Amino acid sequence: MDRVAGAGSLRALREALDSGEITAQTLARRYLDRIAASDLNAFIDVQPELTLAQAREADARLARGERGGLLGVPLAHKDIYVTRGWRSTAASRMLENYVSPFDAAVVERLAAAGAVCLGKTNCDEFAMGGSNEHSYFGPVHNPWDRAAISGGSSGGSAAAVAAGLAPLATATDTGGSVRQPASMCGVTGVKPTYGRVSRHGMIAFASSLDQGAAMARSAEDCAVLLGAMAGFDARDSTSAERPDEDFRRELERPLEGLRVGVPAEFFGDGLSPDVRAVVDAGLAKLHELGARLVEVSLPRTELAIPAYYVIAPAEASSNLSRFDGVRYGHRAAQYADLEDMYMRTRAEGFGPEVKRRVLIGTYVLSHGYYDAYYLQAQKLRRLIADDYSAAFASVDVIAGPVSPSVAWNIGERIDDPVRNYLSDIYTLPASLAGLPALSMPAGFGERGHPVGMQLIGRWFDEARLLNVAHQFQQATDWHLRLPPAAASEEPAAARAQ
Ligand code: GLN
Repeated sequence: MDRVAGAGSLRALREALDSGEITAQTLARRYLDRIAASDLNAFIDVQPELTLAQAREADARLARGERGGLLGVPLAHKDIYVTRGWRSTAASRMLENYVSPFDAAVVERLAAAGAVCLGKTNCDEFAMGGSNEHSYFGPVHNPWDRAAISGGSSGGSAAAVAAGLAPLATATDTGGSVRQPASMCGVTGVKPTYGRVSRHGMIAFASSLDQGAAMARSAEDCAVLLGAMAGFDARDSTSAERPDEDFRRELERPLEGLRVGVPAEFFGDGLSPDVRAVVDAGLAKLHELGARLVEVSLPRTELAIPAYYVIAPAEASSNLSRFDGVRYGHRAAQYADLEDMYMRTRAEGFGPEVKRRVLIGTYVLSHGYYDAYYLQAQKLRRLIADDYSAAFASVDVIAGPVSPSVAWNIGERIDDPVRNYLSDIYTLPASLAGLPALSMPAGFGERGHPVGMQLIGRWFDEARLLNVAHQFQQATDWHLRLPPAAASEEPAAARAQ
């Protein structure tokens, strides 16, 4: 494991920064160089002067004797968090040149901690999608195979971490957007309980589902990043009023006696054999580490797809009504009257996937269909959460696949939205129930593409989830494997050692 010991690990960066072996400015410059040399299209906006100004400030704090945490550590923000300075586009033409007058709560918190922003990462437009092909700025290439998708919607963040362009990255997860790209790019990604991370300044997709999320190589690093992101925020009415937590506090707990629920519904017909083999091996590893595998039933799993694809578009259609050519961003150059201006602006500003969802959402909320679709979907959502409550009466975590297959090729499924929606089956339930869930690298499937294993925890039990992932990572090295795009040159962290 030595070969990759320092590959982007926060511990290595911390030591190098705290001992003065490297300055925050040098470190930031190394990552900026790697970003500039990369052809993965992982970033939408990079502003080296802004990055270096933050690094200078971090160096001044280090010089004053401050240590620890994320001080001086470079990270990338998904371009769904608004930032002063860097553009905030949500990967949409609608916001192509938009610069926010304020920082999102997450950005603010991480900046206060002394983290250094490397830039904004590519994603699906308004986080709608699971392949990163729905970005106005083009798809992100998978560092393991340029022809393949990175997954989405947080594909830029996942590719950046996997390729060593950033040691840490923020993401969001509405129905799987941190877990699925983490799985497909071979990194760790955690979505906390709904309400943990403030949505203030997170460009809204589906407000009852959107949740800030953390990505890094390891669960340990995710625990640190998540700890800095999470916390009560009165500006977000759904923010959970809970004391700040150290999500690392259970990392070293042994897995003896852990009860891992294995839902039969996660291993049905749609699961590719290569992914199944990796997840089975992952479960066997957990068993070897002392966990007990317990069969559980989540009978409403399949219903998560129709429920989510009614609720999420409904909320999206409402949230995106603010993009009217008046308040933010794009406005059509030519129009006959006000109504025509709205129509042209939205026709030009939104891409096809966003339009599809606005249409679905408007339809399911319209008079006569509201009861038939929207209310029914809300009832299903409750039943799905009930399934999980019942399962958690007898297990501590639930384990299974993240995505039914490894990353497919860019363009391969672009004309088949339903097929894309169906592949969200394993990630949607935790989002609908508001439960914490993560993806950790567990092996490789077809064509050598990475496969993640999903762990779902009880409400507010992130520390336990991260504990299980950390113990798994102490016993395996999947999370340390480097893709060709990163291995060509040792990551900055390794060189910093
Ligand atoms: N793939 C899901 C969708 O298309 C989830 C996206 C997300 O979590 N932002 O909506």
